[in-house]
Amino acid sequence: MIRLHDILDAVAAYIPDADLEPIQKAYIFSAKSHKGQTRRSGEPYLIHPMEVAWILTQMKLDVASVATGLLHDTVEDTVATLEEVEALFGEEIREMVDGITKLGKIRFQTTEEKQAENFRKMIMAMAKDIRVIFVKLADRLHNMRTLSHLLEPKRVEIAQETLDIYAPIANRLGIQQMKVELEDLALKYLKPDVFHMIEERIAKRKVHRDHFMQEVREIAQRELAKHQLSCEIVGRTKHLFSIHRKMEAQNIPFDEVHDLVAFRIMVGTLSECYEALGILHALWKPVPGRFKDYIAMPKQNNYRSLHTTVVGPHGERCEFQIRTREMHDIAERGIAAHWRYKERGRKIDQQDEMKFKWVRQLLQWQRELDEPAEFLDTIKLDLFADDIYVFTPNGELKELPRGATPIDFAYDIHTDVGHACVGARVNGRIIPLRYQLHSGDTVEIITGKQKRPNKDWLQFVRTSRAKAKIRHYLRHEEREQAEAIGRELLDKAGHRVGVSAAKILKSKEVASFMVQHGIKDVEGLLATIGYGKMTTDEVLALVIPREEWQQAESVPAPASKMSRLVGKITRRSHSPVKISGISDVLVHFGKCCNPVPGDSIVGFVTRGRGVSIHTIDCARVLASDPARCLPVEWNVEAGAVRIAKIRISCVDRPGLLAKMTEAITEQEVNIVEASIRTMEDQKAVNVFSIEISDLNQLRQVIHALEKVKGVIAVERVRG
Ligand code: MN
Repeated sequence: MIRLHDILDAVAAYIPDADLEPIQKAYIFSAKSHKGQTRRSGEPYLIHPMEVAWILTQMKLDVASVATGLLHDTVEDTVATLEEVEALFGEEIREMVDGITKLGKIRFQTTEEKQAENFRKMIMAMAKDIRVIFVKLADRLHNMRTLSHLLEPKRVEIAQETLDIYAPIANRLGIQQMKVELEDLALKYLKPDVFHMIEERIAKRKVHRDHFMQEVREIAQRELAKHQLSCEIVGRTKHLFSIHRKMEAQNIPFDEVHDLVAFRIMVGTLSECYEALGILHALWKPVPGRFKDYIAMPKQNNYRSLHTTVVGPHGERCEFQIRTREMHDIAERGIAAHWRYKERGRKIDQQDEMKFKWVRQLLQWQRELDEPAEFLDTIKLDLFADDIYVFTPNGELKELPRGATPIDFAYDIHTDVGHACVGARVNGRIIPLRYQLHSGDTVEIITGKQKRPNKDWLQFVRTSRAKAKIRHYLRHEEREQAEAIGRELLDKAGHRVGVSAAKILKSKEVASFMVQHGIKDVEGLLATIGYGKMTTDEVLALVIPREEWQQAESVPAPASKMSRLVGKITRRSHSPVKISGISDVLVHFGKCCNPVPGDSIVGFVTRGRGVSIHTIDCARVLASDPARCLPVEWNVEAGAVRIAKIRISCVDRPGLLAKMTEAITEQEVNIVEASIRTMEDQKAVNVFSIEISDLNQLRQVIHALEKVKGVIAVERVRG
């Protein structure tokens, strides 16, 4: 059984000047918290965190990691809280315990490989700090070592999860030893018969095999040296799981797995690889069909090596990999490259490249630095910081970019789900649509039958898919509106000259005009008018000579028809502006006059940009075609917030800015932007952009500012 002093001694051995107090304190805290608890085996619970801490010392990790190992189950399984942990151990350890507690709540369910991959990445992303992964792996390793105490279904579940998720993570982090042990333990519980069979057979000949490997190494080394080839030869026994994998893959019994041992020869140059191969083949007979030249034809993940199997001394088969040291490095990177390759076939971009550099570097540091504290300082984890991983209600995992919202998630599921999204629940709670999702969140989309995409969504959605789908929808909607507006304008114009719009549209002249200009149908022509690319006068002129209708008496058009048409295609009720009493037309506000609710306004059918809203006295509107103006009014129920700008001239005096800000915020108004400029004559000009709901509120703000001592003048800025 591991005791506290074993752990302390181990850490002191590799960090001689370590402050061991946190470990001692963590031991006491853990012992108190777990007091009275037992594991399935009947042993005191404390044994588990002690063993985990011990594994972490074997990985030569820092004091904080070892302390976290001791504390890792306290918050999840006892009444201890994160606040207590922080108070006793500080923020660093609190963060790590928090991370490990969060990971503890996640259960992997499906067996789909793509899901497993996302799951692995989610764990990496959620951990934030690589040390949390190390603690998690140590935790899992000890749980696997003591798995026999659990009951059957649970055992298999944990073993499968280990094989699918944690062993691959250990592998990628270069913790080979742990990967091997996790895989072998998983095999033991998933396929006990196979495990024991392989184990027995391998054990039978262990001593013999060690001798054999030594012999092969020496012979090969000697022979290569004769040819002035300096090289490094490493031999190993394959682990149980990899033997099992081979039996499965090739569908062969154990006795036919000949190459239980594998050797790697590393040389200096590419030509030496082939040279070494030639020498090896001259020395021992190659097994036909086993030679593979991954140098001439690298694997898709850039892996390069020569592979061969020869009949070695005593007729035993030996597998050799021959590569340069450089290829060896690339082989390690290959894991990463392979891994990236699997990500949705995504193209390699620079950021991805950085991630893999990071993993490679990690492997290198582990070997090069013998000072673990220094190593750990360098690796504050931001691996996958650009991605988040969230669950659907039935446990499927989705990968989204950081900052993604429920709307991005909805569009990721299906375009129709995105279009119909009215709300979302995250981990069971209703949240606003602009909420940014976090890794591990379970997201449920609420849809509504009548709901359609909102233009505002474009301001906060994160994925290009969602953006494209929303834009596409809005463009389509805008076109329908343009058609309706076009029809209304043409009706109005026709009414004025006593010809119906239908008649105009059916005329030969209009038909040939449409052909000439590549306009497909009547709807296309109406949209052209609605977008303001063409005026109704231009259309009229095609059918009736200008002189005839220009003198015609102007008859006001029935406004209700417009209302009806626009009403038909718009059902929402959040637009800040109503057209002829109907809400919900896509509008934008003129930058020239920047109207706010309460201003008298007018709509203007622009050339190609739908309806723009201006104040009634805006110079831009006064100067434009009255035929394209539409009566509009504010939609009070929509409660829209608009940004207004105000300019304040004041005395340049310390503290005045704070007074002015206070005066604004006292009106419960948000300041979104402020610019301050000092003038020559001891004066200053401040421009504030503020969020207001209507003109009244703006007036109140202006009034409040005027009362501030030192303020000379306050005015609203248009545009
Ligand atoms: Mn645990």
